[in-house]
Amino acid sequence: MKTDVQIAQEAKMLPIVDVASKLGIDEDHLIQYGKYKAKVSLGLLDEMKDKPDGKLILVTAINPTPAGEGKTTTNIGLSMGLNKIGKSAITALREPSLGPSFGVKGGAAGGGYAQVVPMEDINLHFTGDFHAITTAHNLISALLDNHIHQGNVLNIDPRRVVWKRVLDMNDRALRDIVVGLGGKPNGMPRQDGFDITVASEIMAIFCLSKDLEDFKARVGEIIVAYKFDGSPVFAKDLNAQGAVALLMKDAVNPNLVQTLENTPALIHGGPFANIAHGCNSMLATKLALKMAEYTVTEAGFGADLGAEKFFDIKCRFGGLKPDAAVIVATIRALKYNGGVKKDELGSENLEALAKGFANLEKHIENINKFGVPAIVAINNFPTDTEAELKYVLDRCKELGAEAVLSEVWGKGGEGGVAMAEAVVRVCETKESNFKPIYDVEETIKAKIEKIAKEVYGADGVDFTKACEKTIANIEKLGFDKMPICMAKTQYSLSDDPTLLGRPSGFRITVRDIRVSRGAGFLVALTGEIMTMPGLPKVPAANNIDILPSGEIVGLF
Ligand code: ADP
Ligand code: MG
Repeated sequence: MKTDVQIAQEAKMLPIVDVASKLGIDEDHLIQYGKYKAKVSLGLLDEMKDKPDGKLILVTAINPTPAGEGKTTTNIGLSMGLNKIGKSAITALREPSLGPSFGVKGGAAGGGYAQVVPMEDINLHFTGDFHAITTAHNLISALLDNHIHQGNVLNIDPRRVVWKRVLDMNDRALRDIVVGLGGKPNGMPRQDGFDITVASEIMAIFCLSKDLEDFKARVGEIIVAYKFDGSPVFAKDLNAQGAVALLMKDAVNPNLVQTLENTPALIHGGPFANIAHGCNSMLATKLALKMAEYTVTEAGFGADLGAEKFFDIKCRFGGLKPDAAVIVATIRALKYNGGVKKDELGSENLEALAKGFANLEKHIENINKFGVPAIVAINNFPTDTEAELKYVLDRCKELGAEAVLSEVWGKGGEGGVAMAEAVVRVCETKESNFKPIYDVEETIKAKIEKIAKEVYGADGVDFTKACEKTIANIEKLGFDKMPICMAKTQYSLSDDPTLLGRPSGFRITVRDIRVSRGAGFLVALTGEIMTMPGLPKVPAANNIDILPSGEIVGLF
């Protein structure tokens, strides 16, 4: 088997102007970045505003193993499969972060014969959007520290600055730092820290904004610190929003690339799936809906987090109406959920599979709770046995859910035909009655309890004493009528990563609520959530190289 980067390098890419012209995009609307990448000008969205939307398909997954279960791969493969059966389709994805590319997980441009290309570019600097976001974010930090240094007219409490700096790298040494050392000319010393760029609120705002003006207004609403009297300091108090918006003027246009089979792909924005909502930009999704019969898009993590936030945050804000959701399941992750250890997932184990199936069953129920039809795609791995595949397909049928085998990783679009046919069948025969699971006007606690009970299957929610105080304060400030962004482990339906399968009789503990006022949601934190990852003992970076011939190796 060839490596991902080898397969990608053998791709017969079309010039990006040809990919665009298949979608009816005029060259005037393209901002080209070389021959195979382009940004699509937002003016096009405006021109097409009266055109009806195509179908919106969400790709989500069961609770995964730490290796990832193939949502991105399935997303790309499904769009290629739809093309194969004569439907126009666009893949809409997040931009990869450099942190995981050099860490454990590798890039995020799919895998095997279901990739987006040029994968090296997409996985590395791409069109510079993350650079723009990093710079925009750090401009606010610079303005804030300068404000304190220049006399602190706003009375910012240097101990209560909540706006950290960001960098697109896994670098644990930067989690907690001291800035302003070196004496009076260097500013006010205070404790600070770095988050990874994808965790920036600017990223979340970028991905939820309607246009640059909306982006600017939301940036102004970011809470960056608190004053000595406890009241919030907003980015607009530092007059930061104009310059920040200017830095984003190019980034705001969605990026157009293609799959290995020349299917158009819009890859734009990439917020974290824990403290943010984990989906590509609203603008890319809306643009895709105008241009293709089917838009296939991914939400990060399993369906308990990814799909819930896609529905309750992104679809609510954008007025989007998802037509179907594909739940990616793998035999290995089902066995993992049935209690099998990571290094034994390659051997047949029908007993564990039956136990772990309960996890998939819960996710199917959850998708249906949102009124959206579900399709199960079993992402086929070489180690899957006939008996295991048959078991899962049969059980799904018993539950009345469409279930298909996806072989896109090994076979590309051809391996996604059955899945594409299932998606089209569901879209043409089953009506989506999409509705969010809670009302934003409900109290913070009621909203969180609804998510915990309905989606996770918890008995209830405990709020720590400190969190009770925070909630009272948020209510006093009038910021409580926003959707909730749950930050929870992706490995379990509960907040305990060791409770696999379909746990019951558990409670969730919420220890803090953060206000992402600019993004427009409240982040509920359960357990420790890492916003600056570290590298493993042997990072992927150690195997990445560019040879004298120019050949790139080690990216996956
Ligand atoms: P997710 O989006 O769910 O995190 P990805 O699609 O990025 O998952 O896949 C995670 C990793 O697994 C990638 O390296 C990908 O190449 C690999 N992978 C995905 N599907 C398969 C498969 N069917 N067989 C082998 N490897 C796969
Ligand atoms: Mg992914």
